[in-house]
Amino acid sequence: MESAFSSFALSEDLLEAVADLGFEEPTPIQKLSIPPILAGRDLVGQARTGTGKTAAFGLPLLEKIDRGSRNTQALVLCPTRELTMQVAEDISALAARTRGLSILPIYGGQPLDRQFRALSRGAQIVVGTPGRLLDHLERKTLDLSALNLLVLDEADEMLDMGFREDIERILKAAAPECQKVCFSATMPRNILELIRTYLREPEIIRIARKEISVPGIEQFYYEVYPHQKNEALCLLLESRESRKSIVFCSTKLGVDELATKLLARGYQADSLHGNLNQAQRDRAMNRFRNGETELLIATDVAARGLDVNDVDLVINFDIPLDVENYVHRIGRTGRAGRGGLALTFVTPREQYKLRDIMRYTRAVIRKAGLPTRREMNELKTGRLLDELRARVENMREAWRDSKKIDPHELMLAALTDEQTAPLQLASALFKMLLEKEQGFDGPEMEVPPGMEAPFAAKGAGKDRNPKNARRLRSGDRRRRALVPAPAQNSRGNSALARRRGNLRGNADTFSD
Ligand code: AMP
Repeated sequence: MESAFSSFALSEDLLEAVADLGFEEPTPIQKLSIPPILAGRDLVGQARTGTGKTAAFGLPLLEKIDRGSRNTQALVLCPTRELTMQVAEDISALAARTRGLSILPIYGGQPLDRQFRALSRGAQIVVGTPGRLLDHLERKTLDLSALNLLVLDEADEMLDMGFREDIERILKAAAPECQKVCFSATMPRNILELIRTYLREPEIIRIARKEISVPGIEQFYYEVYPHQKNEALCLLLESRESRKSIVFCSTKLGVDELATKLLARGYQADSLHGNLNQAQRDRAMNRFRNGETELLIATDVAARGLDVNDVDLVINFDIPLDVENYVHRIGRTGRAGRGGLALTFVTPREQYKLRDIMRYTRAVIRKAGLPTRREMNELKTGRLLDELRARVENMREAWRDSKKIDPHELMLAALTDEQTAPLQLASALFKMLLEKEQGFDGPEMEVPPGMEAPFAAKGAGKDRNPKNARRLRSGDRRRRALVPAPAQNSRGNSALARRRGNLRGNADTFSD
């Protein structure tokens, strides 16, 4: 299987699992960590959650397991039960295509006897919190004599939580020749001491960041939970009236899933990612360029070097794993001197990524709120009124030119009588239109704790959409403007003329 991961000496099973997960290319920490860990070197990686560090140590870890033996060969220490479960799940996903591997999460709060049973069956990979692992070591239910690889994940967190002594006892229980890998977001003195004492000439990996500037593109972010992203995206697409947008996801899988959902909702969307052949890519690009599709859902790799000048909106459906990708992505809009807009979804756990992006790009990314259902309804009502007004103006010209009665007018004339004035009829029709249009089912968004209430009327959204307020204010005034010109167009049809008179009469009562 050819992919950017193929350059690593990883087995076919692992490469297929990576492809199944939709990873298109290794993240910077993966590029730098996988080869030395595979080569058996001790390693220190300065990286946080969200940089792809689990696969950075998980892939070489899996590659090194001797599947013929049930001994515990790899141990991953994590600060919390949640991270333990997450890491065990992520490693299991990477091992999905590999037979004969057992991965066991061990953490406090779980019944000990269940863990005894699982350990006695033999787990080649154990992921756990230091306290509970030490407990098993002391009870001799965990045997580290065959351990080849020990990973400290989020080492600084573990030390902050007071696990130093437990970690040191576990490190001492491992054989001196056991390979050791330490990932930590920060490198305070106590971590450096630990590294100096227990790791042998480690390779030190740190993603050097230089500041990169971003051209004048307006940038906003939205705080959403992962499960709210689809609805949030539709709300933004509905409210922004963009003609060419690119939506970025971090995996091929994410791109395909999102494109399917958007197509089902009636959007003209195409996907762009590394699994497509050149002809498919060219087709998607041409359709996007000439306006047949207004939405392109893409991964970073696929969109690199993308040459379209009039993209007016970029949405980061997934915040990028790497700051440089942020700059590449948003650089797709605002080209050729045009104004551009970049919107980014940030989940509560991804706040620090946003801070990193702001720090290294020095960009001002302002927080915005999603439109509420009421605001969306108002926006759509305003748009419909505009459309209706334009339609009536066109018809008025047609009346003037052709001097013919519009057949629709005759049809509606039959519906008006003493009880039903034309304006009432128009109002019923408008209501029907609104009901159809506003069947849009944008739920009120659940606001993550500690985050303020939406939206646009205040703060960032407002200055992007001043049109809306104006439209709504002018709505009442327009009712009069919507009234077609009186009898001069009629061909002497007295009923029609009378009704037009009625119409006029009623309309006057709305004058302001
Ligand atoms: P981690 O830093 O290990 O917690 O990973 C953060 C997220 O990035 C996880 O959801 C991973 O599945 C995802 N991820 C890891 N590596 C890649 C990659 N090369 N391409 C896309 N997504 C990735």
